[in-house]
Amino acid sequence: MKKYKSLDAFWMPFTSNRSFKAKPRIIEKTEGVYCYTDEGRQILDATAGLWCVNAGHSRTEIAEAIGRQALELDYTSPFSFGHDIGFEFAERLIQHTPGNLNKVFFANSGSEAVESALKIALAYQVARGKAGKYKLIGRELAYHGVNFGGISVGGLTANRKGFGPLLPVDHLPHTLDLTRNAFSKGLPAHELEKADALEELIRLHDASSIAAVIVEPISGAGGVILPPAGYLKRLRELCTQHDILLIFDEVITGWGRLGSAFAATEFDVVPDMIVSAKGITNGIVPLGAVFVDDAIHDRIMESAPAGAVEFYHGYTYSGNPVACAAGLATLDIYEREGLLTRASGEIGQYWQQSLHSLRDIEQVVDVRNYGLIGAVQFAEGAFGDKPVGAAFQGACYDNGVMIRAVGNSIAFSPPLTIEKQHIDQLVEAIRKTAAELF
Ligand code: PMP
Repeated sequence: MKKYKSLDAFWMPFTSNRSFKAKPRIIEKTEGVYCYTDEGRQILDATAGLWCVNAGHSRTEIAEAIGRQALELDYTSPFSFGHDIGFEFAERLIQHTPGNLNKVFFANSGSEAVESALKIALAYQVARGKAGKYKLIGRELAYHGVNFGGISVGGLTANRKGFGPLLPVDHLPHTLDLTRNAFSKGLPAHELEKADALEELIRLHDASSIAAVIVEPISGAGGVILPPAGYLKRLRELCTQHDILLIFDEVITGWGRLGSAFAATEFDVVPDMIVSAKGITNGIVPLGAVFVDDAIHDRIMESAPAGAVEFYHGYTYSGNPVACAAGLATLDIYEREGLLTRASGEIGQYWQQSLHSLRDIEQVVDVRNYGLIGAVQFAEGAFGDKPVGAAFQGACYDNGVMIRAVGNSIAFSPPLTIEKQHIDQLVEAIRKTAAELF
């Protein structure tokens, strides 16, 4: 079914384009937890696409909702015009958000939602007469998308270097520590003290200059790095104490990945904003969102004169009706099939036990898991001077399973519909791949 003449025109993102062209991996069809290649091979999708297809692939209900919406009302400007489905979707979304996060600002991706959240944080500080609070605190190894705000607060060196001066930010240390926390099941028991680094940064910059702290509750792209037990609560306490906003980037951890709609609920910490994308539409149509505390929203509203635009920010596709239709159909599935809490049940237990069974592979130095997310880390140098992850990803694909490479780790985030036999298939493929590679 090849419809292209060559692979030349499409500049692929975050890909070694030259390696890809030498050995293309083309997916032709998706269904449930599987992808099918142009060679007719069935591949288990142990990454839910890119941490996003939480309800499994090619769901008829979502596809039909998209088609119906495109025929009925395809597009209107979101600047000063509205449509039913945008308001309906926002209302449905906030039924799942914690605390008073009852306002939704729509974007088109995680990256855009991050930018929107950072700008809302700054707009809020200005609105309450604290324009001096403009600095942002991120964390090492964090991924917050690829736009300028996101790479500024982000902590992955490769994504930040070479783009000139970024925003005024500082970074908390990451919380990966194999000396005390290797092979933790669920949240690591040690290293809660890492949260106290925020106090040091506050001493350094002074709270009067800091607008917000942004963290992924679990760092995904950094290698599935779990927060030590109590860590996020401690960040919340410090932010509240020093009048600093706390933003959770839940682009990966949202929508059932950890066994609750959001990590915030799972870990019982209410941030001031939550950034969402990916699973919000089951990854099918691009859509990002920021869930904002009422008080932040109201302060920004009140700061503008009546009749004026309150916040000079938005996208052509903010609240795009077709994306909202996809999102509503996705929520219907999540709610009806109990997917938002499934990871906290028996399947999550099986996931944990299966991943940790890989500990006996000689080169494995850590296994990490929570809900239906996980990673296996290999020893530095296990594959010469090359990062093991990339080699492992390629070989695992040849063995019928799609995983994600992160440095010396491999990461997994299967569709939340995954069954035990699929987890067995993943574990077997990892064993086979390890036996071939090492
Ligand atoms: N934040 C996090 C935590 C992410 O994992 C991602 C994407 N992997 C993003 C933001 C950016 O999302 P997008 O690629 O949709 O821009």
